Amino acid sequence: MSEIHLTIDEREVTAEPGRTILQVAAANGIDIPHLCHDPRLSPTGACRLCLVEIEGQAGMHTACTRLAEPGMIVRTETEAVLRSRRSSLSLLLSEHNVACTTCDADGACLLQDYAYRYQAAEDRFPKLAGPSTETYTVGNQGIVYDPSKCVRCQRCVKICAEVEMAEALTFKGRALDIEVSTAFDLPLNDTTCELCGLCVSACPTGALWERAAKGQGRAKDLQVVRTTCTYCGVGCQMDANVDRRANRIVRVTAVPGTVPNDGNLCVKGRFGFSFVHSPERLRTPLIKENGAFREASWEEALALVGRRLAEIRDREGPEGIAFLSSSRCTNEENYLMQKLARAAGRTNNIDQCATT
Ligand code: SF4
Ligand code: SF4
Ligand code: SF4
Repeated sequence: MSEIHLTIDEREVTAEPGRTILQVAAANGIDIPHLCHDPRLSPTGACRLCLVEIEGQAGMHTACTRLAEPGMIVRTETEAVLRSRRSSLSLLLSEHNVACTTCDADGACLLQDYAYRYQAAEDRFPKLAGPSTETYTVGNQGIVYDPSKCVRCQRCVKICAEVEMAEALTFKGRALDIEVSTAFDLPLNDTTCELCGLCVSACPTGALWERAAKGQGRAKDLQVVRTTCTYCGVGCQMDANVDRRANRIVRVTAVPGTVPNDGNLCVKGRFGFSFVHSPERLRTPLIKENGAFREASWEEALALVGRRLAEIRDREGPEGIAFLSSSRCTNEENYLMQKLARAAGRTNNIDQCATT
């Protein structure tokens, strides 16, 4: 289908048919604010921050749900739009526990960002008390939910249903008491939750966070280091968020759009990194002598293994030795292992832990 032409903020842009105004604007570097939109999810149209004006059409329109049309003239920052955004943000702030100075999300929070960008007043509307602090994450080791920082954007609920397909989350309550919960208000541990952490990754504020990372460093102070998960051979891309002063990983995040995992991680990749700092972690090869281990260099350990394997092979024949590799290695590493087994060990006894 041929491209369509429209105008956004006095710029002529082209788009594939079927794209929303928000998508077309984003593709052309025009940042329309949004709290409930996430490119991984179906449109929601709940937060009202992406309202724009369209020439010749009355009122304002949500850019995240409205499709771009040929010849449309869209304005994203008119006086009326800016007034509406300020009001929406001030209303959100009136029912929000604005505690940015002690919040882990400080520096990575869209509400904070937009409140600053549009200079939304915190005290324009009377402060309203939020819902309970006893929530569905009580007792969960991975995730903690703070309803007083929740903007009810639905991203967590939708990503759990639409991407992870676990359908563990829902909303409970009405009006000011609405909060995220689970079916029958069960603790998260008793639901279909797979502890993938996608809900945390989708949250635009500090309402959902990794429990172990609470108080361990504000998002803006952490250094993000791209790395590859070591748990299996898929090679998921992840970001270690590191407290530079303590040289410790505080949390693990992942970026949508990266290959091969598109921002998804399993429970091990997202939450299972405390071993990195374990004092019991092996850091050097150990050689057992007279019933006790002693530390050795890699050169010494590898030479010993090679010598002993060759001795056994020459004494017992190729059936006397076997090589066992790991699904945590890459394809290339497993290829090299079978090469070693066959070429140097002269045996076909080669396998790895994921063989069923
Ligand atoms: S969630 Fe955002 S706006 Fe709320 S206290 Fe934390 S940083 Fe501030
Ligand atoms: S951790 Fe994953 S499965 Fe569990 S509630 Fe969050 S998104 Fe759903
Ligand atoms: S917890 Fe976060 S993602 Fe879920 S509704 Fe609240 S603000 Fe949105």
